[in-house]
Amino acid sequence: MPEHPDVAVIGGGIIGLTAAYFLARAGLSVELLDRGDLGREASWAGAGIIPPGDPDRARSPADKLRGIGAERFPELSAELRELTGIDNGYRRGGAIEFLSADDADVVEVWRTEGIAFERLSPADARRLEPLGAVEGDAYLLPGCAQVRNPRHLRALVGARTPRRRRGSRKARASPACGWRTAEPFARVGSCSRRARGAGRFCVSSGRRRRCSPCAGRSRCSAGRRRRAY
Ligand SMILES: Cc1cc2nc3c(=O)[nH]c(=O)nc-3n(C[C@H](O)[C@H](O)[C@H](O)COP(=O)(O)OP(=O)(O)OC[C@H]3O[C@@H](n4cnc5c(N)ncnc54)[C@H](O)[C@@H]3O)c2cc1C
Repeated sequence: MPEHPDVAVIGGGIIGLTAAYFLARAGLSVELLDRGDLGREASWAGAGIIPPGDPDRARSPADKLRGIGAERFPELSAELRELTGIDNGYRRGGAIEFLSADDADVVEVWRTEGIAFERLSPADARRLEPLGAVEGDAYLLPGCAQVRNPRHLRALVGARTPRRRRGSRKARASPACGWRTAEPFARVGSCSRRARGAGRFCVSSGRRRRCSPCAGRSRCSAGRRRRAY
């Protein structure tokens, strides 16, 4: 394997793990960098609701992304189950959306994308969801799906092992602190390790925060002199 991977993915939440999975599947060598345990931040806490969508009829990039996710999740789930034996719990069980007067555009988006929905009477909404408080207008979305996030993340992490044989590298515990671009590779700096290079970088580190402990400065809190990236 060459010294530098084709792609370094910074941040191993659901976004980074999924990107790394598909990049490795496409035959690229991938290194995953995370400052902590893979998939244990926002992705672990998520409820796993996968709203329906249609990428071909979506009007905004975000709606298109939602549509692609909804469309490809069943196939990805089956693929991960095949590779790892882990059932991520993906089910298309439907959902009830409660809309307020401010959400008038939501129904319009559903219509534009051809998403199936049914307006429920308050009595029907209470019958279907007896434990919930019924506020606003209730709509049944039969195409809404759900996945068990911790299981899905375990499957994505587990799927890296067979992929490693074909080029993806072991994930490293490494906070990324900054950047330095130098031909032929861009490098990512780390307050705890030497800078590493890669052909390309995919930044998927979730909410933007400054690196701890060095907060992106050239001197880390341990007092060691570091190069400013
Ligand atoms: C309570 C809750 C419920 C939710 N429910 C849903 C839902 O039902 N449906 C839905 O679609 N979305 C839901 N979300 C949103 C969804 O969980 C997030 O949008 C998604 O998990 C973001 O994934 P991520 O990979 O971008 O971020 P994260 O999961 O936060 O992953 C970022 C990773 O980057 C690493 N990192 C950060 N900084 C650095 C650094 N400097 N160097 C190296 N690594 C770094 C972190 O350690 C982490 O592992 C929910 C979120 C919450 C909190």
